[in-house]
Amino acid sequence: MRKMSNNLAVLAVVGCAAAAAVVYQQAGRTAGVGSGPFAGDEKRQQMNYSKSMYDIAPLPRERVAELAKKLDAETYRVTQKAGTEPAFCGTLVDNKKEGVYCCVVCGLPLFSSEHKFNSGTGWPSFYREFDPQHVTRKRDESHGMSRVEINCARCGAHLGHVFDDGPKPTGERHCLNSVSLKFHEKGTELPPESRPAAFETAYFAGGCFWGVEHYFQKGPGVIDAESGYMQGRTEKPTYKQVCNHDTGHAETVKVVFDPKRISYRRLLEAFFVMHDPTQLNRQGPDEGDQYRSGIWYTSDEQRKTAEAFVAEQAKSPRFAGRKVVTQVEAAKTFFAAEEYHQDYIAKTGGVCHVANPW
Ligand SMILES: [Zn+2]
Repeated sequence: MRKMSNNLAVLAVVGCAAAAAVVYQQAGRTAGVGSGPFAGDEKRQQMNYSKSMYDIAPLPRERVAELAKKLDAETYRVTQKAGTEPAFCGTLVDNKKEGVYCCVVCGLPLFSSEHKFNSGTGWPSFYREFDPQHVTRKRDESHGMSRVEINCARCGAHLGHVFDDGPKPTGERHCLNSVSLKFHEKGTELPPESRPAAFETAYFAGGCFWGVEHYFQKGPGVIDAESGYMQGRTEKPTYKQVCNHDTGHAETVKVVFDPKRISYRRLLEAFFVMHDPTQLNRQGPDEGDQYRSGIWYTSDEQRKTAEAFVAEQAKSPRFAGRKVVTQVEAAKTFFAAEEYHQDYIAKTGGVCHVANPW
């Protein structure tokens, strides 16, 4: 574990609110603690989503073989056997329409009309990728040449080569085979395999947001968790205003998740393990209405699921004799908390009242 400073060690003993006061006064200094990429970015990469939010998990060999069976002989030769189509013969060399160029095998968007240029080589040329994480590179020493081969990051299809004689701003020339690409004109509907992942957002208030954010971030299927303020009366509240009970906001964690990998119901279950839904306007050592228990729904489906879940929990033996006070309300605007509150537990190695639900 990272060595904690004396001030941060206080956190483990007196709870979040008191320690936060210490940190608040020293925000300038603590802002540097654990600086680096957001935990959310790391998680996104671990889960194999690109920056533009496409699923880029490498497909198993059997799946690629299945997809490749549908290709015509020339496309198979180029994409699966690293072949090259003759110059000036491809159908996309002179294509000037606006749109996106996707992998002919798996559908991942690889290049955009925005970055296409006329290289005069006879092959479709682009000065950059749609998303650099969608195209992988490897050295190719075949045919007595030293080149850099480019492939689809998801299915491994051979696309062409990249050279360093392209135009500004990158100076690169991605030299493509037309048969490796499937062009979709702007305004036409993309097939599911060419669309970004459809994520959902959920909001939970369960006391001090540090611990709640920390454990939601660890959830399987959770892309990102972020600390903030919600359900209050003012715009862009500060931590100090919220602490002074001036604004009516609740400390809230925004959870972005992939509903194909984790259900909203599972998030609700985790939330009820993390905090005590029978404590009114407090959690552990933290007191005040900013620490109230709440579920702020973003769709009618979430509302139904949350209301049914809370009603069911209210009757469960776990809470016998104690009233569940969790509020279920339509989500208002989420205001992200100050930078020093984000990933707080991960940055400081601190401890919170929140239980690990996973
Ligand atoms: Zn592909």
